[in-house]
Parts: sequence; C-alpha cells; structure tokens
Amino acid sequence: MSALKIPAKDLPKFRRRLLSWFAKRKRDLPWRRTKDSYRIWLSEIMLQQTRVAAVIPYYERFLEIFPNVHALASAPTDRIPTTWAGLGYYSRAKNLQSAAKEIVVRHSGEFPREYESALALPGVGRYTAAAVLSIAYDVPHAVLDGNVARVLARLFALRGDLRVPATWRKLEASAQELLAQKFPGDWNQAMMELGAIVCIPKSPHCDECPTEKLCRARKLGIAEKLPSARKKRAQVDVTLAAAVLLDPRGRTLLIRQLGGDGALFSHMWQFPALEAVGTDSMLAIAGYLREKLRLATNGNLLPLATARHAVTFRNIRIEPYMVRVVRLPRIVDTSIVALAEVPSMSISNATRKIADVAIAWHRLHSL
Ligand code: SF4
Repeated sequence: MSALKIPAKDLPKFRRRLLSWFAKRKRDLPWRRTKDSYRIWLSEIMLQQTRVAAVIPYYERFLEIFPNVHALASAPTDRIPTTWAGLGYYSRAKNLQSAAKEIVVRHSGEFPREYESALALPGVGRYTAAAVLSIAYDVPHAVLDGNVARVLARLFALRGDLRVPATWRKLEASAQELLAQKFPGDWNQAMMELGAIVCIPKSPHCDECPTEKLCRARKLGIAEKLPSARKKRAQVDVTLAAAVLLDPRGRTLLIRQLGGDGALFSHMWQFPALEAVGTDSMLAIAGYLREKLRLATNGNLLPLATARHAVTFRNIRIEPYMVRVVRLPRIVDTSIVALAEVPSMSISNATRKIADVAIAWHRLHSL
C-alpha cells in the first residue's frame, strides 16, 4: 500500500490551493452562514444519507419550529416525527432529541467542545463529532466520510476496499495529517466539497481540480477506477408478520417500540408486527398478540395480500393478517385510530403498504 502522505515540501502549497479553491467555489448553504454549533450539528445529522438539496427545506423548517437546543429538548416527542417526516432514517431525529436533552442537562445547553464528550452523545459518531467541533469551534479534528475517503484514495492511488478497518484507520491518519491546523473548519468543508462537486464518484472533474498536480490517480490515469468496488453484502430474505386489528367502528391499533423491529419501522407508529424467524408467520403474530397485547386470537386471523419491501440488504416479505376484535386493547404506547386515516399519518413505507392492503380489504368487506 502506498504511503498516504503528501511530501512535506508540497504540503503548504496543497493546503493553500484547496483552501483558496474552497473560498471561491463553495456553495452558499444555510448552515455555512453560521458558527452556531446547534445549527451546524443539525445540518450534519440531516445530511447523513441525504442529498443537500433535499435537506435545505427540512433544515429551515426544523429551525423555525425548534430554533435552539432548548426548544428541541423540551418539545413533545410526538412533534419530532411530524417535522422530520419525509427525510427518512427517523432514528436520527430520535437521537437528535435525546442528545439535545443531554446537552441541556450536562453541558449547559451548548454542544460540548471536547471530542470525547461529543462522541458520548446519542447519534454522534466520529465523523459528526469532528465536523461540528472543527466548523463551530475550530478544533483541529479531521473528518473522514465516504466523500473524503474517495478523494484521499485517489490522491494516493490507494486500491482495495476502503472500509476494511486497517485501511480506514490509515485514511483517518492521513486526513489528520493533511488538515490545515489553523483553519480546521474550512479545511474539512473544503475536503468534503471537493468530494461532493469535483472528485465525484463517476467521471471526476480532474480538469477543474485544485489538487490535480499532486494527484497520483490522475497521474496514473486510474482516477475513474478508484475507489475499488466494495464487496456486496449478501441479500437476506426476511418475513415480517403484521396484524391489523379492526374493531366494529373501523378503528385499528398502532404501536410504538413495543418489541417491533426498529430497524424495519424506524420507531414510527406501526401495526403490531415482528420478524417471523423459523416459524409460520400466522403462528408468530398470534403468539406476539397474546404476549404483548394480551389478545387471544383463537385462530381468527385472515391473511391479507402479501407485500414486498426492501431495506438495504434485506428483502422483506410482509405477511399481514386482519384480526377483527370486539374491543381494541388499551395499552401504554399504543394509539387507536381510524384505519382509513393511517396513510395520512407519519408512518414508514412498510406500514403504508400494510395499511393499503388492509383498507382495500375493509372496503371490499364493507360493501
Ligand atoms: Fe479527484 Fe481528479 Fe482531483 Fe484527483 S485530480 S483529487 S481524481 S478530481
């Protein structure tokens, strides 16, 4: 593996070029007009797995509703999903509020300035901690995410899977060594910006690149081939059993975090459901209703049309069942709503698919 270093004599020139390119070419983004750590932290969380253009309207609306960390920490939990709905990966919003509460209680309402304390907050990993600390407080911590890793892999003509832990550690060390210590916030943003608009995954714009002359991949003519493709994770088939309880008034029961699979439903309101592992889905959901909701179904489960759903490496087959009940159970962390109203709520796509087949079935059987 090549040494991941720019020769010491070239390093000042490299830093100067990248910083002056960033000063001229950076996009004018709302979170770049502030040094407020709350706003910068919020933008970094929203930008995870989400494109800049998609984030901007959510970011602005979120700040109108929760303008500071105190407003977010004291907001009713129910308000967060409504404000976040549409951005996806809802666990980010949940962690954001948990972290806001910790910031208010333990850090006097200010995002902590120490790296370790920032890392201890829910939802804050190494990348986010380094980004917020460097941009808001000028703490010299280099960021490393997929974009920056791609830039480094090309600069140093580094082959192989970048996510292999030993390689990733090398990249972290290299990012830290390149960091312009006096301007860590601008430097980190410049590296990210380079990866986002010039050193893009396919067909990098090497002609416009401020670091072209020092780029080994460019010199070798292999920029487009790097980074090497990652080994694909094998797809896993999952069966999800779900129950749509229906009372004589057309109402159903939704639950939150009652033993459902958070990875599949993202902590939003959902129908009672579980992954059926090594057993028939009907038996699995009947057992679940008995244990969690104290509801005996006595074989009264009608299979509805199955639906397909894909989440990252999981192919999910959803097997929903209609369960007619005289009275819906009243339990903590559940909500009773009209079945027809479910699609208009903040729900995951999986829950929406179940609601659609259940509503279609209900219409047919109410004629
Ligand atoms: Fe990326 Fe090309 Fe710049 Fe190298 S020269 S860093 S490959 S854009």
